[in-house]
Amino acid sequence: MKQSVLFTKTSKDVAKDEQSLNSQLLIKAGFIDKIMAGVYEFLPLGYRVLKKIEQIIREEMDAIGGQEIFMSALSPKENWQTTNRLDSMDVLFETRGANEESRRVNDGSYILNSTHEEIITPLVKKFALSYKDLPFATYQIQTKFRNEPRPKSGLLRGREFIMKDLYSFHVSEEDMRVYYEVVKEAYFRIFERLGIGETTYITLASGGDFTKDFSHEFQTECPTGEDEIHVCDKCKIALNKEVLDRQDSCPECGTKDLRITKASEVGNIFPLNTKFSKAFDYYFTNEKGEKEIVYMASYGIGPSRLMGVIVEKFADDRGMSWSQSISPYSVHLLSLGQNDEADKIYEKLINEGVEVLYDDRDVSPGIKLADSDLIGCPNRIVISSKTIENNNIEFKKRSQAEPQFLSLEQVLAKLR
Ligand code: ATP
Ligand code: MG
Repeated sequence: MKQSVLFTKTSKDVAKDEQSLNSQLLIKAGFIDKIMAGVYEFLPLGYRVLKKIEQIIREEMDAIGGQEIFMSALSPKENWQTTNRLDSMDVLFETRGANEESRRVNDGSYILNSTHEEIITPLVKKFALSYKDLPFATYQIQTKFRNEPRPKSGLLRGREFIMKDLYSFHVSEEDMRVYYEVVKEAYFRIFERLGIGETTYITLASGGDFTKDFSHEFQTECPTGEDEIHVCDKCKIALNKEVLDRQDSCPECGTKDLRITKASEVGNIFPLNTKFSKAFDYYFTNEKGEKEIVYMASYGIGPSRLMGVIVEKFADDRGMSWSQSISPYSVHLLSLGQNDEADKIYEKLINEGVEVLYDDRDVSPGIKLADSDLIGCPNRIVISSKTIENNNIEFKKRSQAEPQFLSLEQVLAKLR
């Protein structure tokens, strides 16, 4: 991608009300823009990152048999009345058509889905009614709406945000528990591939109103995270603050010597048991022809929150720093007034299948270098009169201080 044709630009200033580091950097670098509090638009560079995060999650969901679907964002209020969450879920958005006619019908109002248990349960009930149909799991990656009070953490807490939500359906609690463990493992792989495996802890949390048992959060250590967790560094397990009166020691080794740290919840898995199947009357027929209740679990991950967390964790005073797996481009190629030579390198890299952002703009070297640090691709190549004279390429990793001078072959070897 040539930066001269990229319609977005980096900017020096961001609005003063932008308090979080992630939104400040992402807006400055032209990855996202804000339309109102808690609602952001994804621009070409930012959307590439989001899609890469989603794709990693998608691959791991597919690998454990998740069947991808895409549900509606809008739903009738009745579904939420069935579970009483119309009243109990404070963050629910209700919406209505703006004209007279739509006010008359159904009082004109619908729900903008904040989660999809109320949608998926009546949906799958149309198909999976026999023990032969169970178990199965289905997921989507989709926009959710929540009227979060005072959203000021950028992508960490949107009022409109992206969630991957997986739901699984089982003949028994035991069967649900088996798959629950399979999903846990898939989650560990996802966070590993996103480059945050080392600092993401499975965390005991309360099951809310779904279950007496614990649910599990995946909490990523992050200085600006909204949650406080108590970590057993030996077992790499944590406790959420809210469970400390039920459980105040590591569930693996029993130690009470836990490290308190700030974290952001990037994923959450819930044994729902029969809460939603009961509400929607979702039974299956067993081998003897008798009716039995279906067991369910739900499993969320926030791709847009993850993007914000990753920015916050890895940023330095010069800007963002993306890992190879989710960077918008692998290489940022800068031409310092040498577009003829840089064009050739660009072509060669593209032919080798390398994803390149090419700064071919007519701006000063200082601006190019600063923008490159801000945007944060993991590899930087500089073509200047000096490199042409020495017949080499200046190559630097975002994480390294000093560049190396290499041949194109050596650079390609490093990129592989
Ligand atoms: P929190 O306690 O942070 O409000 P939650 O328990 O409400 O999170 P879930 O309903 O379990 O979150 O949603 C699943 C995942 O969706 C979360 O783990 C998180 O990654 C993401 N998520 C939830 N709320 C938001 C939000 N407002 N903005 C961005 N991502 C969110
Ligand atoms: Mg919440």
